[in-house]
Amino acid sequence: MDKILASPGATLEILDRFGIRARKKYGQNFLIDANIVRGIIETAGITQEDCVLEIGPGIGTMTQLLSAAAGRVVSVEIDESLQPVLEQTLSDCPNVTILWQDVLKTDLVQVRDEYAPGKRMKVVANLPYYVTTPILMQLLEQKDLFESITVMVQKEVADRICSGPGSKEYGAISLAVQYYAQPEAAIRVAPSCFIPHPNVDSTVLYLRAYEKPPVEADEPLMFALIRAAFNQRRKTLANAVSHGLQAPFGPFAREQVAEALKTMNLPETVRGEALSLEQYAALSKYLGYDTLNPV
Ligand code: SAM
Repeated sequence: MDKILASPGATLEILDRFGIRARKKYGQNFLIDANIVRGIIETAGITQEDCVLEIGPGIGTMTQLLSAAAGRVVSVEIDESLQPVLEQTLSDCPNVTILWQDVLKTDLVQVRDEYAPGKRMKVVANLPYYVTTPILMQLLEQKDLFESITVMVQKEVADRICSGPGSKEYGAISLAVQYYAQPEAAIRVAPSCFIPHPNVDSTVLYLRAYEKPPVEADEPLMFALIRAAFNQRRKTLANAVSHGLQAPFGPFAREQVAEALKTMNLPETVRGEALSLEQYAALSKYLGYDTLNPV
């Protein structure tokens, strides 16, 4: 293996040698702390049996160590100007394949079928923060392709994802992630562990994908209810849902929602942020039944 890149000296030397700078528009903050990189790989529990999907290898810092730990690594990178860098830094890593494309436009089923047929991959990434939510939702909506997802995200995002009803961080993303996976904040990471330093603290988040969702729901309607509730946080849930849902998920009269809430022993004035995932699932089933059986 080429020398370990996860240090300030090695990273600056590479940037200098190839005449490149971290590109803000691609959310490039390169890891320079080897203990953090090892901690991420340990959290993900990578073994030689695994095929890892890495998002954004950058200059190859984590890819090098993933290559040593895993059987196979597929890394998706949008920034083609990094091509000469990775050719060199990963020259001793024959089990790594780089796909030069936007991960959001990547057919992940095809990637799995080609590189890990019949298996589930493990995702490991120091995510570009400007697209954290779309990437996480893309991965979770195809969770059957993955055994686990271990990603560096902004600390605030990790706090939101791990929070429950009643806390101020609780929101649509908490419910969306918790429907698909069990989240755990594994490692806290300071800005000084990256070049350039981000303006925020970071957290390594470990998501263990459920084989089956933890609640039974009318899934599309449940997500529509969650979106309506948190888009209009200051309204009561009954108002938010009766104003915010259009066909094919509604509309529902305010009284219909109030009636469903009453059946669930919830006050008519309850706000969306007070309901748990179980309660959203139950509400979706009550209202879904109403849609199928109009009075
Ligand atoms: N893994 C490297 C590390 O830890 O030092 C780099 C991490 S850096 C935070 C994010 C990486 O994701 C960059 O290399 C960036 O170019 C890449 N990236 C940004 N947007 C992307 C996208 N839509 N698809 C694939 N890669 C992307």
